[in-house]
Amino acid sequence: MSDTRPARGLDTNRPHSARMYDYYLGGKDHFEVDAQAAERVAAAYPSIFTCARENRAFMHRATRVLAREHGIRQWLDVGTGIPTEPNLHQVAQSVAPEARVVYADNDPLVLKYAERLMRSTPEGRTTYIEADVNDPEVLLDSPELSEVLDLDRPVVLSLNALLHFVPDAQDPHRIVRVLLGALPSGSALAISHCTPEFDPDSWEKIQDIYNGSGTPVQFRTHKEVARFFDGLELLDPGITVGHHWRPDARSAGAAPAEPLTDAEVSLWVGVGIKP
Ligand code: SAH
Repeated sequence: MSDTRPARGLDTNRPHSARMYDYYLGGKDHFEVDAQAAERVAAAYPSIFTCARENRAFMHRATRVLAREHGIRQWLDVGTGIPTEPNLHQVAQSVAPEARVVYADNDPLVLKYAERLMRSTPEGRTTYIEADVNDPEVLLDSPELSEVLDLDRPVVLSLNALLHFVPDAQDPHRIVRVLLGALPSGSALAISHCTPEFDPDSWEKIQDIYNGSGTPVQFRTHKEVARFFDGLELLDPGITVGHHWRPDARSAGAAPAEPLTDAEVSLWVGVGIKP
């Protein structure tokens, strides 16, 4: 950790998903306990680093496509994670400087670094809300959300690598319905979601590591992820493994993706538009 002072509510005795993900991405904002758990995951599934990188890259491409080709200017990004450059608002504002982004996460460490998410363009605006996606009504009622987002105009609901932390017992399909229900026609849903389908043995071990450390996870199949998009119009190419979704939408100058296998990426991703 660059700054080891624990923030309010920070539990440094057990690994946290946001800090393990920071480790996968090569960040510095995690504790030893997170690094150890992340290394156990890497021992079971060495391409976890690729999976995390491709997850982030999908978020960049989906954001760019929705800003550029669909003219969307507002985002609600739930399960934001520890700031990692470029953050979603930086990608959106590179296309449309007036883009507005509301970030939400329930990990206190993300709150601690939230000022990094607020460095906006002068024309745009961002804010951060500490919130649990399991209470979508509370999130939607938050005054910060309505200060930044105009819910009469299209909004992208970005749930990137979030829903596998919401087991069926929490009814994630209801959560997505409630959040989308607050957004007008022309809004979009962007999801990335880990899947066990291409390497079931490794993903079972990963599931055990997360569950055993007090973070319940549920990795889902293509069919289960597709259900989140019920009633929406899926953008081409539909629900695909991460690296197959609009590889042409890489940022200018970004290296072409190296050939990857589906098992190395193990993420279902998709973007749908609310009719
Ligand atoms: N969206 C980012 C980070 C994904 S890591 C990206 O794709 O790059 C998953 C994030 O979801 C973590 O930051 C974790 O703290 C957050 N998270 C997990 N459960 C959550 C919940 N119930 N409510 C809000 N955020 C949650």
